Amino acid sequence: MGQWPIGVFTSIDAGLGVHLDVAKDLGIPSVQIHAPHAGTRNAAAAEAFLKRCSDAGITITCVFCGFEGESYADIPTTARTVGLVPEATRAERLKEAKEIADFTRLLGCDTVGMHIGFVPDKSSASYAGLLEGTRDLLDHLARNGQKMHLETGQETAEHLLEFIHDVQRPNLFINFDPANMILYGTGDPIDALKKVGKYVRSIHCKDAKWAAEGQRGKSWGSEVALGDGDVGMETYLKTLKDLGYTGPLTIEREIPHDPTQQKKDIGLAQSLLTGLRAKLGMG
Ligand code: MG
Repeated sequence: MGQWPIGVFTSIDAGLGVHLDVAKDLGIPSVQIHAPHAGTRNAAAAEAFLKRCSDAGITITCVFCGFEGESYADIPTTARTVGLVPEATRAERLKEAKEIADFTRLLGCDTVGMHIGFVPDKSSASYAGLLEGTRDLLDHLARNGQKMHLETGQETAEHLLEFIHDVQRPNLFINFDPANMILYGTGDPIDALKKVGKYVRSIHCKDAKWAAEGQRGKSWGSEVALGDGDVGMETYLKTLKDLGYTGPLTIEREIPHDPTQQKKDIGLAQSLLTGLRAKLGMG
C-alpha cells in the first residue's frame, strides 16, 4: 500500500463497523475490524476471513477490542461501561483482550485497537490499577510482536499523554479520532492532534458537530457524514501530513441502522479523501 491508503472500519459479527462487502464493493484497500464474538475467534474463522480479504485485495491494519456489557447510550453510561476502566469487569476483559490479540495474530496483524475507557484521575487508586492492567496486556502483546493503539476522545489530549507516559511501555500508541474529541467534548481536534502527534500510528476519518454550548462533555455531539461536521477535513489531513503520518485513512460512519445511507456516505468520504490526498500531494 502507498501513502494514505483509504480504509474503512468493518465488523465480522460484532460492533458498529460495516460489512466487509462494503469495502470490497467500493474498492477500498484496507480495513480495521471490530473483533468478532468469542465463538468466532479461532484459527478456522481467521483463515476464512483472511481469504475473503485477500480475494478482495484488502489488508487488515488493526483489530479493535470490544466487550460484552459496553454501551455508548450516553456519556455517563459510556464512562460506566466501556473498556478496561470499570474495575468490576477489568480482569475478565484483560483476559479477553489477550484472546483478541492472539486472534489478531492469526490474522497476521500487529496492531490491536482499544477504547480503554475514561481514564481516571492520576491521584485515584483506580488509576494505579489501570496502569498495572494495561502494562500486563501490553507485555502480552509484545510477546506477540504487537502494539496497542488507544482510541482518542474519552479524555483530553493532556490526560492521554500523561497516561501513556505513566504506562511506560514502548508498544503503546494512539488511534486518533477527531470526531470523538467533538462528540465527547474533550477538546479541539486539531489542537489535540498536534499535542499527541508523536504517538499517532493510525487514525479515523470521522466527522461530528459539537453539542450546544453548556452541554459539551455532558451530552453527545452528533456524528455526521465526512465533510459535513466541525472537524475540517482538509486542515485535519494537512496536520497529519505535517506530522509525517503516512498510514491508512480509515473511514468510520456509525449509522448501522441505515446500511444504505452508511454505504453511500462511505463512498462519498472515499471520494472526498481521495481528492484531498491528491491536493496535498500524498498520492
Ligand atoms: Mg473512532
